[in-house]
Amino acid sequence: MSDFAVVGSGIGGSAIAALLSAKGYDVVLFEKESYLGGCSSSFQRGDYTYNTGATTLAGYEEGHIVKEVFDTLGIVPNLIETDPSIVVLHGDKTTPRYRDFERFFDTLDANYPHAKNRAFWELIHKINDEFYRFDGHYYANANLFAKTKSLFSFAPLFWKFKKYLLANAQTFIEDFFGTLEQQYRQFLESQVLIVAQAPLREINFFTAALALAYTFNKNYYVMGGFSTLFDTLVSGVKNVRRCSEIRSITRHENHFELFTKTQIHSAKKVILNSTVYDSGKLFHDGDVLGYYKKHEKLDNHQSSFMLYMTIKSEKSFHHHYQIIHDAPFPHTLSQALFVSFSDKEDIQIAPKGHYSITASIHTDSRF
Ligand SMILES: Cc1cc2nc3c(=O)[nH]c(=O)nc-3n(C[C@H](O)[C@H](O)[C@H](O)COP(=O)(O)OP(=O)(O)OC[C@H]3O[C@@H](n4cnc5c(N)ncnc54)[C@H](O)[C@@H]3O)c2cc1C
Repeated sequence: MSDFAVVGSGIGGSAIAALLSAKGYDVVLFEKESYLGGCSSSFQRGDYTYNTGATTLAGYEEGHIVKEVFDTLGIVPNLIETDPSIVVLHGDKTTPRYRDFERFFDTLDANYPHAKNRAFWELIHKINDEFYRFDGHYYANANLFAKTKSLFSFAPLFWKFKKYLLANAQTFIEDFFGTLEQQYRQFLESQVLIVAQAPLREINFFTAALALAYTFNKNYYVMGGFSTLFDTLVSGVKNVRRCSEIRSITRHENHFELFTKTQIHSAKKVILNSTVYDSGKLFHDGDVLGYYKKHEKLDNHQSSFMLYMTIKSEKSFHHHYQIIHDAPFPHTLSQALFVSFSDKEDIQIAPKGHYSITASIHTDSRF
């Protein structure tokens, strides 16, 4: 019997499986696909590799969580820094999101002039900078004591950013700027959507500020495709089972049984990193089903429509573009497309002179 069975090899599942293995626990990681990484994976078709969803890696720098996990495991991933981390194409305007504040700001201010621009973007930069200097906050819900203690760990953060946490992002931005051109509004809205995964009206200003600031942090291109990152991440996990979908889980007094199509596996504890709104279907246990039922209303059905393609070209491209359209694309939740190109030198992904491209747009999963 394993100590832990982890279901799903997304960044959450792979990281926890690797960290527990490094602590000496007996861990089994189940993944239904043949490749690891979930929404941050890559898959192969013929001579080409395509990133499935995520194409930029953030958080790999001092004080950020991704770097902390890799450092703890003693792994150095094969990355190249990408700057500008994204180039925004909006009608006749091109705005590269450089990491350097002044370099970014010059073009931003020329493209979307406003008297309050400097004050606004300096505030965004400051919130981001101050936030990443905080540490010691964590969330645990093993019992009431752990929950309360972890909630208290957020107190300094809450007091510091209370003003922004309690303000609706759309209202705050409207009040801050007074009047705002429609195009500038679209720029801000589209930039926030790809990080916060929600429109300004649905989030607080603190979340929006961190979303707008993500390009001031280091962003990376993953050489060889995202799944190579996960192959490295779980290299210390002894038992990784690909093409193994967990179909149901039964709870017993001191252990769990996990059923694939052909096998039954026993584990003392289960960690679910399967898609959250599907996880309830794995159980027949009334308590667990009730838990998922209670949280069903939080599902906003947000999803992505993906397009994978290859081009042959001698031209040079940036790694990532956001293309903002005047109006929402039909049957989607956005008026912006995110388009990512493989690196010219990344011949593991596409032969020389070719690019592998992943394009995405937000959609409603019920559609
Ligand atoms: C189109 C798109 C673009 C994105 N771009 C970026 C980006 O550029 N940068 C960034 O940082 N983030 C990006 N994200 C977000 C990022 O990809 C996700 O936040 C992250 O991958 C989620 O990881 P996770 O561990 O929560 O789970 P997931 O990635 O959802 O992984 C869940 C895993 O569980 C597996 N699974 C599900 N059910 C079962 C089962 N019953 N049995 C076994 N396995 C199962 C799935 O196959 C999957 O591998 C993007 C997301 C999308 C969709």
